[in-house]
Amino acid sequence: MTDERKSQILLIYTGGTIGMKKDPSDHTLKPFDFSQILKEVPELTKFAMKLDSFTFDPLIDSSDVEPGLWQQLAVLIKNRYNDYDGFVILHGTDTMAYSASALSFMLEGLSKPVIFTGSQLPIGEPRTDGKENLVSSVEIAAAKLRDGSPMVPEVCIFFDSKLLRGNRSTKDNATGFNAFRSPNLPPLAEAGIEIRYNQSLIIRPDRKAELSIHNELDTRVAILKVHPGITQQVVSDTLLGSGSRAVIIETYGSGNAISRPWFVETVKEADRRGKILLNVTQCPQGDVNMELYATGKALKNAGVLSGGDVTTESALAKLFFLMGASSDNQWVKSQLEESLRGEISKQLL
Ligand code: ASP
Repeated sequence: MTDERKSQILLIYTGGTIGMKKDPSDHTLKPFDFSQILKEVPELTKFAMKLDSFTFDPLIDSSDVEPGLWQQLAVLIKNRYNDYDGFVILHGTDTMAYSASALSFMLEGLSKPVIFTGSQLPIGEPRTDGKENLVSSVEIAAAKLRDGSPMVPEVCIFFDSKLLRGNRSTKDNATGFNAFRSPNLPPLAEAGIEIRYNQSLIIRPDRKAELSIHNELDTRVAILKVHPGITQQVVSDTLLGSGSRAVIIETYGSGNAISRPWFVETVKEADRRGKILLNVTQCPQGDVNMELYATGKALKNAGVLSGGDVTTESALAKLFFLMGASSDNQWVKSQLEESLRGEISKQLL
């Protein structure tokens, strides 16, 4: 049983399909204002809790999300932290996994729920998934343990009846209502007749933890997705380009890439030039193990670090955060293989 009587929730509206309407002039979906969302979901008024809202201006399609939005979200949550029991962020689905991953790193010492949600169909549509997503997210943000502490003091995504750890999530369905998955971690909760929490997976902060925000982000990260036929020029442009401090190498299977000497030599050269190189598998499920095949071992020997079972979204956000925190690449590397916010299964490394 949870005690929701005194809960106060801040609903933060950034944009996304959930609050969009068809513009008759060109038939594209454009955002509309928050009061209309509430009009569409009278169910929210049935909860015995105080619900406030904050609307971003301008509202955006999440394809336009920049780290600046994450910084604004972090500051907003920090400034309102003592006034609320939990936060629900309405956000477009396209980059929700990036934003949830980023916020998980930027909010250190979080002891309250920050739940991202959205929808595949606008909330005004008869078959919308937005209502259920929004109502359940608010309920989860307000849920408490018997001792009065928040049920889920983490940054999460709630979608299609599932509560997922934000930095484990990925959008893997462009059209279905089950848009998100956390392939390497079971849901933290599932909503049926009642909401069932998977208590053993939920990370509980140290009681004395205080929220601090990390708003310095270094975004100089490139992503190299290996594929058959990739040219030497493309590999060297991406690995050695002067614009990046780190490169995520998206590899095959358990962390394998091309074994040809030109590829391995380019990776070694990138390492010599001081780049931070992180191996993330292209497979949604499973993890990197560079000891398994000679092609993986060659990467390890060339200075590439294992991303374990991290998602690309989370790896990117973690690099932004770590590189923003320090100019010392050795320190960044030492943190990459650590689980800082439950983003990797440590035992798999
Ligand atoms: N393009 C939209 C967005 O990410 C899609 C959505 O919300 O589902 O903002």
